[in-house]
Amino acid sequence: MSEVFVRVALDHPLATLFDYRFDTPVPVAPGMLVSVPFGKRHVVGLVCEVTAHSDVPADRLRSVEGVCTACPPVSSEWLKLAAFAADYYQRGLGEVALPALPQALRDASRWSRLFAPEERYSLTPAGRVALPDALPARASALRKLAQALAETEFLLAADARALHPKAIATLDAWRAEGWVALDVIEAAAALATAASADVPAPALPTLTDEQAAAVEAIRDADGFAPFLLHGVTGSGKTEVYLRALAEILAAKPDAQALVLVPEINLTPQFEAAFRARFAALEGTSIVTLHSGLAEGERARNWFAAHTGRARIVLGTRLAVLASLPQLAIIVVDEEHDPAYKQQEGLRYSARDLAIYRAKQLGLPVVLGSATPSLESWWQADQGRYKRLTLSRRAVAEAVLPTVKLIDLEEERRRGRASVEGLSGPLIAALKARLERGEQSLVFLNRRGYAPQLACDACGWVAGCPRCSAYVVLHKPERALRCHHCGWEARIPRSCPECGNVDIAPMGRGTQRVEETLASAVPGARILRIDADSTRRKGSAQALFSDVHAGEVDILVGTQMIAKGHDFQRVSLVGVLNADTALFSHDFRASERLFAQLMQVSGRAGRAGLPGEVLVQTRYPRHALYHALGRHDYVGFANSTLAERRDAHLPPFVYQALLRAEGRTLEAALAFLQQAAAELTGIAAAERVTVYDAVPLTIVKVMHVHRAQLLIESASRAALQATLRAWQPLLRGLKGVLRWNLEVDPLDI
Ligand code: ADP
Ligand code: ZN
Ligand code: ZN
Repeated sequence: MSEVFVRVALDHPLATLFDYRFDTPVPVAPGMLVSVPFGKRHVVGLVCEVTAHSDVPADRLRSVEGVCTACPPVSSEWLKLAAFAADYYQRGLGEVALPALPQALRDASRWSRLFAPEERYSLTPAGRVALPDALPARASALRKLAQALAETEFLLAADARALHPKAIATLDAWRAEGWVALDVIEAAAALATAASADVPAPALPTLTDEQAAAVEAIRDADGFAPFLLHGVTGSGKTEVYLRALAEILAAKPDAQALVLVPEINLTPQFEAAFRARFAALEGTSIVTLHSGLAEGERARNWFAAHTGRARIVLGTRLAVLASLPQLAIIVVDEEHDPAYKQQEGLRYSARDLAIYRAKQLGLPVVLGSATPSLESWWQADQGRYKRLTLSRRAVAEAVLPTVKLIDLEEERRRGRASVEGLSGPLIAALKARLERGEQSLVFLNRRGYAPQLACDACGWVAGCPRCSAYVVLHKPERALRCHHCGWEARIPRSCPECGNVDIAPMGRGTQRVEETLASAVPGARILRIDADSTRRKGSAQALFSDVHAGEVDILVGTQMIAKGHDFQRVSLVGVLNADTALFSHDFRASERLFAQLMQVSGRAGRAGLPGEVLVQTRYPRHALYHALGRHDYVGFANSTLAERRDAHLPPFVYQALLRAEGRTLEAALAFLQQAAAELTGIAAAERVTVYDAVPLTIVKVMHVHRAQLLIESASRAALQATLRAWQPLLRGLKGVLRWNLEVDPLDI
């Protein structure tokens, strides 16, 4: 019999496959998971090729130790997707492919129990009464088992066995008495709350002409068809996704759809809309995939997608790498959202990978937004994406809110009263809403009480001992906190430098605004939503439901309140502190600010109440605010793209960023300078511009000094070729703690 070898991808930075002998008596195919020896360890790898010979000398070849038979192999298309992502983002194939699989699959010791049916024991009402009395006095093992049953909803067979080796026999005896019930749950089926025919079909709204045209275009698409669905806030983009999906899924009984959202916990309404709509379509199960799921649930949901049982996968950026053998359409909602970019490990853009995936498989992909990224807008300008426009709000009586700028300089000049940064007109407008029983939002992008705590007498400002950053005052928590490293300390009573007791908070965060609002708008029920008030799992959802239930008059918060919510009774949005982003060194800051302000403005007046947006600013003549006032995304996008073209910035050039972290700034900079010098030997780098290595704005975090080197090119191919040749040279350089390479960075 001839020998069989497999070439396996491992989660290892080397962009190579590892050869193993395959002498296990089961069939092997690419896409299967195997366990292999690697050095002194045993690791899980993904079979990429099966071959009849290996170039590795026979005495150095080791054998595959185990095969995961519980999981059908991933498709060759999926392997290609992972290979593309690895190549594009300059990582090893295994570094991309293995982390994209559920944790349970990457642990060979768990394979035998994987996706097996779950046996759940639970106490019956009769058992709850009878069992305690029936136990012999000294049977402590039995008591433990009975107690475990009483304390939980159900006890898994495996957990029972861990309590006592003979637990199952005991449980079966108790079952015979009628004290215990046993349910066997098909693990993969349990989650797929399969739709049933009993659910009445929901009443569908009549589509607007623009919605109908969009649905038709998506449904009739042939082959790879990227769409940019540009719809103003409240124009009913979700309805377009729902209808397009319904048509595509109905046309092909096994077709699957992938729907990406920036943050699933912030958009429960979105999930609810999908569940409600597809509950009536028989056999259409929806699963979610995001990092908030428990590990077991995530594995089961992944498996349901992988085996085709889930027809709709609703997920965050990580879901773009889900295995979907019958994928037929991809939707990327709020495609401009920076959350689609992973900021650590494999620094990929889920939106860009979604486009690649659609192209690879010849599918429609819908990018939806009220404020598309300039990258996508430019693609549409060039005719590479087809633009679909929803120019009006879907609900007939809902119109876009009026935007007014409050000139803070003029307020001051005229000596008009303000309270702690809240201008007179804004306070008056908030009071008017309170009287009418309408809701208001107050938006500012800074959490905490105050960004600085300072001493007037000597100029001391509270700073982080580990970072080159000021610490933020958190009043309810009575703490100073570093937002970069998590360092925390009590608020000092006096200045540690000069002893002055009059140290004072400077600037404003959401906590301080919440406090000011309580005194400026008496009687209002105020709720704050930001990363601090929603730290506990599920608390954001609970807070948002208070807003929807009308139990809140004024909601103050960060960009968390701007995203996607369909608030029905909000008629006023106040914007504070937006000016800082106008003059950022990051060329994308104004694009982000405009998108945020459009989004938060879009929360007002959705259900027919006339909406108003009040923006406090020192620069009322700034072009960005003018475009905002006219709801003129197109004008803003076109003028900003013209500026980018003149300044040779993305999307007109392609960029990559090399970041280094060293014990000293000098070490980090020296590494980057050596790295830049290595580029001179690379032919493709002739078409690449290399900038000077510079420290990051917050140069030190956790005692580590950080610097970066930007390189860019008008040719994506030249940049990619350069990076490919550069990587191995970078690996040879020393002197820093860590470095990483980011392709298409969002934050510069
Ligand atoms: P977007 O995502 O574009 O901001 P949504 O999808 O949240 O907008 O829709 C806004 C509101 O309009 C929702 O309450 C939705 O139910 C409603 N809606 C959508 N399409 C229609 C329609 N054709 N007729 C009536 N109401 C609609
Ligand atoms: Zn002082
Ligand atoms: Zn710090």
